Amino acid sequence: MRMLPDADPTALADSDKVLADLDLAVPGVNRTFDVHDPATGQTIAQVPDFDVQQALDAVARADEAGRSWAATTTRHRADVLRTWYELILQNAETIALLITREMGKPLAEARGEVSYGADFVRWYAEEAVRPGGNFRDAPAGGARLLTRRAPVGLSVLITPWNFPLAMATRKIAPALAAGCPAVIKPAPNTPLTAIFAVQLAVAAGVPEDLVQVVNTTDAPAFSTAVLADPRVRKVSFTGSTGVGKALLHLAADNVLKSSMELGGNAPLLVFDDADLERAVDGAFAAKMRNGGQSCIAANRILVQDGIADAFVEALTERLAAVEVGNGLAARVDVGPVIDHRAVTRLSGLVEDATRRGAHLLTGGSAPSHPGTFFEPTLLDHVPADADLARTEIFGPVAAIQRFSRQDEAIARANDTEHGLAGYVFTENLDRAFNVADQLATGMVGINQGVPSNAAAPFGGIKQSGLGREGSSEGLEEYEEVRYYNLSLRQTS
Ligand code: NAD
Repeated sequence: MRMLPDADPTALADSDKVLADLDLAVPGVNRTFDVHDPATGQTIAQVPDFDVQQALDAVARADEAGRSWAATTTRHRADVLRTWYELILQNAETIALLITREMGKPLAEARGEVSYGADFVRWYAEEAVRPGGNFRDAPAGGARLLTRRAPVGLSVLITPWNFPLAMATRKIAPALAAGCPAVIKPAPNTPLTAIFAVQLAVAAGVPEDLVQVVNTTDAPAFSTAVLADPRVRKVSFTGSTGVGKALLHLAADNVLKSSMELGGNAPLLVFDDADLERAVDGAFAAKMRNGGQSCIAANRILVQDGIADAFVEALTERLAAVEVGNGLAARVDVGPVIDHRAVTRLSGLVEDATRRGAHLLTGGSAPSHPGTFFEPTLLDHVPADADLARTEIFGPVAAIQRFSRQDEAIARANDTEHGLAGYVFTENLDRAFNVADQLATGMVGINQGVPSNAAAPFGGIKQSGLGREGSSEGLEEYEEVRYYNLSLRQTS
């Protein structure tokens, strides 16, 4: 059995104190569910578990608070968001410890998520005062046409567990900037960070009831009831494609404005003319960030024949040197995967690929441990029909396929119903743009393994989603266009 590094005692004691100090109580919600530390399996908190009526009561409170928020000036909203941003930074270590305890990622990565998550709040503090709008003359004359942007209304925000802070701020900040109240339902594995972040928002001046955090173990009952409520006007979801489709069906009944950030199956293309070191660094980051549990993680690494041997050797070396263990350990690169189901799924994917002829070059198994860990794994010569080439791996498993021609690589890259992110590594500028233009994805990293940025529109095409988060496009998701026709008569 491989020994995995345990938590550093000081970091563990600090995080225990953060957990003990958390105020989780919600008046009137007495049922609770357990939250676990995936690095140890231990219960770390008990969180109020809303039933349907309690969720609808939260909708009512947010709706009430939203009336005066919509009437505030954009300058006021910007100032409150800026204060929230500063409070997040002041509490960065507390938030990072919470993220690591409930989600598992190494503390250094959790700190990175705090700064990434805070960036959305700062960005929308800046965007709040630029809601946009338009003015034009009617082509046939006789009128001036004006548009302005108004808040869409009560927004239901549903987030996954892989980025407990950033997925929440990426939705809450633009909703508040646009003038909307919100009900956020975090994933039940990782509710703590969102609860704390919203408490900071209230400390920053967000009205107490404006953002309701509703945690529940019955997500289908929650969405069925809440999306049918006439006070709700918007749903923004980040998570798996299957759940996204179910939510779109529910949203149809009330014709809700819908944003869907769904699953990916990102291709990462390495051409013979790539810089080897840059490509290995980029592929490593695109695969291993968050232990591979990212919707834009490189799912299929397609490498051209001329560079493939050198690339595979270098990436295998990098993966074999990765230190796996408790995210609070002093030197750890990759933490646990989220739960036992993930371990079983990853083992099954590796088994299926090797049975179909893939070569296992490093890793491949789950170390025996009370926590839920999986070894960084590299499989070469993965057949295109292997399960892990067709589904989202969502773990530290790199799957390499080889190709000879650019058109063949693009055809394989696009042979999926997903279209979130893609990556291209080449030192040839013409090839970089040609390939980026032909990849059927919403985002392309060019010689870059981590394309996310609060100032950029994050989102997918095909079954990877609808709408964008971040950038000015992310604000529009919480706005609706109002148009005024101003009649204009000639005077003399
Ligand atoms: P998931 O779809 O299982 O759950 C996401 C959220 O939806 C959780 O809060 C969950 O409780 C909730 N949920 C589940 N069923 C629901 C229902 N019927 N009604 C309402 N809510 C429901 O996904 P996950 O396992 O938490 O996250 C991993 C998935 O998220 C992956 O597919 C990943 O690609 C995707 N993801 C996408 C993006 C993106 O921006 N496109 C970002 C991060 C994660």
